Amino acid sequence: MTTHTASSTSLPAADVVLIGGGIMSATLGSMLALLEPQWRILMLERAEDLAAESSDPWNNAGTGHSGFCELNYMPDPDDGSKAASIAEQFHLCRQWWAHLVRLGLLEPNEFIHPSTHMNLVFGAEDVAYLRARVTTLRADPLFADMEYTEDPEVIAEWAPLTMDGRPDTGEPMAAARHPRGTDIDFGALTRALTRIIASASGEVRTGHEVNGLNRTGTGWQITGASPAGRFRVRAKTVFVGAGGFALRLLQKAKVPEVRGYAVLPVGAAFYRCSTPAVVARHQAKVYGQADVGAAPRSTSRRRAGASALRPVSDLQHEAAQARSTHRFLHHTAVGQSARPRRGRCAES
Ligand SMILES: Cc1cc2nc3c(=O)[nH]c(=O)nc-3n(C[C@H](O)[C@H](O)[C@H](O)COP(=O)(O)OP(=O)(O)OC[C@H]3O[C@@H](n4cnc5c(N)ncnc54)[C@H](O)[C@@H]3O)c2cc1C
Repeated sequence: MTTHTASSTSLPAADVVLIGGGIMSATLGSMLALLEPQWRILMLERAEDLAAESSDPWNNAGTGHSGFCELNYMPDPDDGSKAASIAEQFHLCRQWWAHLVRLGLLEPNEFIHPSTHMNLVFGAEDVAYLRARVTTLRADPLFADMEYTEDPEVIAEWAPLTMDGRPDTGEPMAAARHPRGTDIDFGALTRALTRIIASASGEVRTGHEVNGLNRTGTGWQITGASPAGRFRVRAKTVFVGAGGFALRLLQKAKVPEVRGYAVLPVGAAFYRCSTPAVVARHQAKVYGQADVGAAPRSTSRRRAGASALRPVSDLQHEAAQARSTHRFLHHTAVGQSARPRRGRCAES
């Protein structure tokens, strides 16, 4: 039962409150909804729509990270362990989604699409690196189907736009590709998973911004504001899936585990092509090599079909892109500082 007082509305107590309506909360919430269908799960999202921040398809590159093309997972071309662990984690995600598809709860065409994952590098040093990387990875069954070439004509077949108009300087170049990469629409996936929460005994409230998180004897008291006024709700368990605002909320909650976390600014410049003839000629995700001294994620990528992404990693750029400092602070991703304590599921 919902009760109203002059100062704030008390929402019905929940077993679990999920703060934030992005892919992280939606994933956990959908798992809990299936495992504990009688639990009351409440998702609180401050925006009017779900997945409007990092999980929006135009705010990330949509790569189903499988270790096929992310060179920063493998600085040492002889050590494929990190790439393999990423590939295993992604396979676990796919198993979960496949389970939901079998239950009739998810429609794969809505969010996952095949997309070749490819690397393209230039110069003798990077060519030697890529050749060694592919040799290492091919020994692992997860990567057995990787292809490799140093032939510009083959590269032009694999990704024509990357070679169009490129002068023949004789500079060595190489490409690798894996045909079974994926493109994920994390926004569509978030909405689909959230429907699972709502169709069990859960509830989704958008326009609800959490700004207080306090421990009680039996769990947590969550407070916040909505267009209707202030609200509060008690929960046995809280999951903070608030993207760039998660750090602030965890600090407010005074959980000791928050020590060691920092804000890691990750942004990108997106370029979108809407000329169908050009779009039709590009059907791969192409990851390059980061420049020396650049941030590990600053590899430029070309996404199948329509867009190109140039990740940037400086606060100034991100601030310039954001409409206000407030929005900027909410846009940044939460990452780990030099003393890592806990991993996160998705990376750019
Ligand atoms: C440039 C870029 C490229 C990327 N590329 C990829 C990629 O190719 N593949 C990949 O797997 N990942 C990629 N990522 C990472 C991926 O986008 C994120 O890891 C993921 O979307 C994070 O999801 P989330 O649910 O934690 O956060 P979000 O999607 O940001 O969701 C957090 C939600 O919490 C809400 N919120 C915030 N504060 C509050 C509050 N106080 N009360 C209530 N709600 C609140 C926000 O409005 C938001 O909806 C990329 C990220 C960036 C920045």
